[in-house]
Amino acid sequence: MKLIGAHVSAAGGVHNSPENARQIGANAFALFTKNQRQWVAKPLAEDVIAAFKARCKQYGYTPDAILPHDSYLINLGAPETEKLEKSRAAFVDEMARCHQLGLTLLNFHPGSHLKKISETECLRLIAESINQAHQQVPDVVAVIENTAGQGSNLGWRFEHLAEIIDQVEDKSRIGVCIDTCHAFAAGYDLRTETATEATFAEFDQVVGMQYLRGMHLNDSKGGLGSHLDRHHSLGEGEIGWACFRFLMQDNRFDNIPLVLETINPDIWRQEIETLRSFIPA
Ligand SMILES: [Zn+2]
Ligand SMILES: [Zn+2]
Repeated sequence: MKLIGAHVSAAGGVHNSPENARQIGANAFALFTKNQRQWVAKPLAEDVIAAFKARCKQYGYTPDAILPHDSYLINLGAPETEKLEKSRAAFVDEMARCHQLGLTLLNFHPGSHLKKISETECLRLIAESINQAHQQVPDVVAVIENTAGQGSNLGWRFEHLAEIIDQVEDKSRIGVCIDTCHAFAAGYDLRTETATEATFAEFDQVVGMQYLRGMHLNDSKGGLGSHLDRHHSLGEGEIGWACFRFLMQDNRFDNIPLVLETINPDIWRQEIETLRSFIPA
């Protein structure tokens, strides 16, 4: 089954996100479990946790259809010890919040070397950060998102993702989320079905499709290889519809959250309907 949704608002509390997802006709969703631009958040209240779980159950959102995203401030490959420790503590807190909510996935951006350490060293620190988090919180799968490769962000080449995974001890708790806008901006062509097929063949060869635990479906304002992280509505950017039609018709993308982070929430319902119209009967 195709699990399609969007990164919905959790304003007023995480327990409001399932209703926001339901209203756009989604059978999957993403959310922030805390303010994504702040380091610390107050712990989740028991009643909020209970309400979140009850509504997910009521609307049929199982943990494998929900892809929480961590704070943008976290850099698990930070070159400076103080920032790295702060990031690691915040990441453990994010993972613990997911666990409290009964969720099993946590999507995050790998990290940046800030031109102070080598790529290899940065990727090693990221893997070490994941290993440490795994030791502190049970069950939750760390889902690395590929990036557009803006600034000194790593994770834009599939080889970066593979290098991190290779150094993670518990392979059952590491996965990847491919963001189509980021992949395209990083130089992976998705403009035709043939190009999309070739990109995922390369992903399978370098990383392995078995690690794909979610996707972000976004068109791109930036061109191929532009390294610009600028999302667009589906079909309105440089990628176009062919890629998204391909994904809907390929069962390798079944049963993982496929999440819109497109720029106009007013048309999310419509985008989801169009995506569903591509699914073979
Ligand atoms: Zn994304
Ligand atoms: Zn992005």
